[in-house]
Amino acid sequence: MKDFEYFAPKTVEEALPLLSQYKGEAKIIAGGQSMLVIMRQELLAPEYVVDIKGISALDYMTYDESEGLRIGALTVHRAIEKSPTIQKHFKVLSEMETNLATIQTRNWGTIGGTLCHGDPAGDPVPVLMTLDAKLKLKSLSGERMVAMEGFSKDILEVDLEPDEMLIEIQVPVPRSHTGVAHEKLMVMQGDAGIVGAAVSITLKPGDGVCEDARIVISNAASIPLRVRKAEKSLIGKVINDQLLAEAGEAASAEADPPSDVHASAEYRREMVKVFVRRAAIRALERAKKG
Ligand SMILES: Cc1cc2nc3c(=O)[nH]c(=O)nc-3n(C[C@H](O)[C@H](O)[C@H](O)COP(=O)(O)OP(=O)(O)OC[C@H]3O[C@@H](n4cnc5c(N)ncnc54)[C@H](O)[C@@H]3O)c2cc1C
Repeated sequence: MKDFEYFAPKTVEEALPLLSQYKGEAKIIAGGQSMLVIMRQELLAPEYVVDIKGISALDYMTYDESEGLRIGALTVHRAIEKSPTIQKHFKVLSEMETNLATIQTRNWGTIGGTLCHGDPAGDPVPVLMTLDAKLKLKSLSGERMVAMEGFSKDILEVDLEPDEMLIEIQVPVPRSHTGVAHEKLMVMQGDAGIVGAAVSITLKPGDGVCEDARIVISNAASIPLRVRKAEKSLIGKVINDQLLAEAGEAASAEADPPSDVHASAEYRREMVKVFVRRAAIRALERAKKG
């Protein structure tokens, strides 16, 4: 690993001037679970490393019925997985975290680090996209809010300026009769998904017609991909087995999966069909419960 100058600010107010002063030459490190791998492989050799793990003010979760859920960027995966509030109001987030990596990685890796890393195989982004989450970004020039959808730009590339930090993830309270589920294909529990699918379904109370659907697939394109044709195949209809199969087919047609040592593109396309359908079945069951 190349030498670098190391800073360990304890507040956002200390971190932002460093990112501004060394804009383009400094890199943030949080839990280091992805960063250290990349630095060891010398794929990245920053002159300055700004270690934000000690900014305790960004380690929090709050929830209320009007504001929804707010998660500080430095909250570790394990805290999200184990939070009684998350388990009660956003069960899908806790379930997704249970299948993310090993306990060691979940104990140290942060939610902010995962989102900013921009890995198209990452699990949190598809789930947060189906939940319509927003991100608060901050630099010395001010704050901006961006939608989770659209934050990923390409493989390992996100909508983040070199002097910006992710501060908070905001998740609105889902409408009533909404069910959300996440499924991923793993060889062993905690493996990165060969493909993954997050599905949100909102039913009209009474007649059970699908009012809204959001479907996002992972590791099936260069970014977590919202598959709108698949969503359209469900909206305005009473969902049945045939429609679920059609949604899977549509998602697979919209996917542009890679071929790598883990799976061929053809296999991934087949698995997108299966996992979109599986996640949709569970989302539908949950939506029916109100
Ligand atoms: C063995 C292993 C298995 C894994 N399996 C999975 C899996 O199954 N599913 C999955 O989704 N992920 C998986 N991961 C990835 C893991 O989720 C991430 O490595 C980790 O959560 C990243 O968080 P971190 O705090 O360690 O970020 P770091 O590695 O410190 O940083 C990652 C990137 O984000 C940037 N960054 C970090 N925080 C901020 C911030 N607040 N503002 C701006 N930029 C920031 C850094 O500059 C860097 O570019 C796995 C990782 C390992 C090591």
